[in-house]
Amino acid sequence: MPRRYRRKSHPRKKLASEAVIDMYDVLNENRNQDISDSAAKLILRIGKKHGTRVRNYNGITICRSCNIAMIPGRNSTVRIRSKVVKYTCGICGRVKTMGPSFAV
Ligand SMILES: [Zn+2]
Repeated sequence: MPRRYRRKSHPRKKLASEAVIDMYDVLNENRNQDISDSAAKLILRIGKKHGTRVRNYNGITICRSCNIAMIPGRNSTVRIRSKVVKYTCGICGRVKTMGPSFAV
């Protein structure tokens, strides 16, 4: 079986970031925690491999300690204090801070 020649014509990073965006859609749309967690782990894996980062545009964030999807009201809490948003993981208690002075 001939080995397929890899061309550079495929923008790997672009494809990876599209995959990450798709995964965020999965995170956003389904209500199953297992599926959300799998999607969260995939996003982190793709990010590590290809260096893609997606802004957290939809309110769902990923806990960097337990690699799970932090869904407000389910396993995380969201607090807003002086223009800073604080996401607290309900499992490990890690706080993720986002705000105007932080790079998301
Ligand atoms: Zn956590």
